[in-house]
Order: sequence, then structure tokens, then C-alpha cells
Amino acid sequence: MTHKGKTVFITGASAGIGAATALAFAHEGARLLLAARRMDKLVDVADEARNRGAAVVHCISLDVRHREAVANELAALPKEWKAIDVLVNNAGLSRGLDKLYLGKIEDWEEMIDTNIKGLLYVTRAVVPGMVERGVGHVINLGSTAGHLAYPNGGVYCGTKAAVHMLNDGLRQDLLGTPIRVTSVEPGMVETDFSLVRFHGDEERAAKVYKGLTPLTPEDVADTIVWAASRPAHVNIASILMTSVDQANSLQFNRQS
Ligand code: NAP
Repeated sequence: MTHKGKTVFITGASAGIGAATALAFAHEGARLLLAARRMDKLVDVADEARNRGAAVVHCISLDVRHREAVANELAALPKEWKAIDVLVNNAGLSRGLDKLYLGKIEDWEEMIDTNIKGLLYVTRAVVPGMVERGVGHVINLGSTAGHLAYPNGGVYCGTKAAVHMLNDGLRQDLLGTPIRVTSVEPGMVETDFSLVRFHGDEERAAKVYKGLTPLTPEDVADTIVWAASRPAHVNIASILMTSVDQANSLQFNRQS
């Protein structure tokens, strides 16, 4: 299945996995609808996507935590951008690494509002149109963290366990339609993820990836495009993926 001329909507496309996914779909000649809060970064990704062969790129400034903004921005899209073929629910983050009983409540709320509620708001705004048109694929970014919790990360892990269940529930609710639902659930991927988690502490973020080879954002993007490229009757329910230096959320092969 080719993505030439297909409309692909990616949330959190300004960095990391979302940006790499935009470029991977660009290579296939897709029409890209890209969303994030940082428009300067999004515009850079859009320029690069055009260089790599995207048919057209449209950027929207969107904070997925804002329910009304999500509904209004998506309702206000020009007609030619409303017919979304592939939705990649990628916007997400971790904040803090604290014992759950001592965690910062603002950190919890930011993770829950973005990773769970934001994903739901976008899904609610996009999927009815897919059902109406009888075409579509929703790809949600889960995590190995959604399968096995790790110490001090309980709330982030909880949000990703929720994504796994929402993915399952949505697929059940779409049974009888041709809409596909997939979750791509990576282990450690070297992006700004840890920098965001540690509120910009570069030294602490670098330690996360020390002594091992993590996945790259391109590895995950490639997998997302693969899942979206299966024949129309094939639904990949979920893909759990890590680098060879990781067995699960807790076990790593570190050389130093
Ligand atoms: P990243 O490099 O920090 O990128 C996160 C993206 O999400 C950015 O484009 C950011 O854009 C966007 N975002 C965050 N909050 C947002 C909001 N409220 N509204 C709209 N966009 C928002 O991190 P990443 O590693 O690529 O993470 C992407 C997804 O993969 C997340 O769902 C994450 O949980 C998941 N994941 C990551 C890893 C990993 O190890 N890196 C592993 C498993 C799963 P703006 O800041 O410009 O809005």
C-alpha cells in the first residue's frame, strides 16, 4: 500500500519520533498535516519534508491538552485537509522521575493531560470523519513502559498502559468498519524525551542513554510507516520494539 497523495496527520511532529515519522511519510509522497506547539521547529520539519518529497505540508499550532482548541482547529481545517487517512497520535511526554507517593502533582497532570486526554481529544475529532468516509488508520504511540512499570516512573507508565487499552478499545469499537488501529510501543529511543523529563537538565538526560545503543527516532518512524503500509485488510494491533540492548522497561545491557 503506497502513501502517495494520502493525508497523514501527525501530532507532536516538531521533534523526535513525530518529526522522523513526518520525514518518512514525506519520502513516500504523502500529504502531511503536522501539529505541535513550537511552530518554529514545526516549520523546519515541514521544509525538510518538502525536500524529501512530501506532496504538500500544512502545519497547525496545537496544544493537544486543550480540548476546545483541538476541536476548533480540526473543525477549521480547509476541506482538503479534513479527509485524514492516517492519524499518528504521537504527542506525548514524561515529566519527573520521583517516587509515586512523593511525585509532583503538576507533572502527573501534564502527563495525563497530554498522553491520555490529548490523545483522546484528537481521536474524537478525527475518527468520526474516517468512519464516515470508510477509510482510515489510527496509530498510537505507546511504550514498553505501558507493559511493565519502572521505579519512579509509575505515572508515565500508567499513561502508556492507558494508551495500550485505548488502542484495544478503539479497535473493538471500529470492528465492522475498514478503519485500522495500531499501537507502536517502543523502548528507549534517543530523542528530547529525557531532556523534557528532566526539565532541560542535559547531563542527567545524557546518562539515560549512556553505555547502550538505544533505538533511533528513524527506527520507530520506519515501523510506523511499515504498519501503515500493510494491505488494507491487515491490521497490526500492536508492535512492542526495543534495541538489542534492552529486554523490557527494567533490563538493559550497559557497557559502562
Ligand atoms: P520528544 O522528542 O520530546 O517529542 C515530543 C513531541 O511531542 C514534540 O514534538 C512536542 O512538540 C510534542 N508535544 C508534547 N506535548 C505536547 C502538547 N501538549 N501538544 C502538542 N504536542 C506536544 O519525544 P519523543 O521521544 O519523540 O516522544 C514521542 C512519543 O513517543 C511520546 O508519546 C512518547 O511518550 C513516546 N515514546 C518515547 C520513547 C522514548 O524513549 N523517547 C519511548 C516510548 C514511547 P512541542 O513541544 O513543540 O509541542
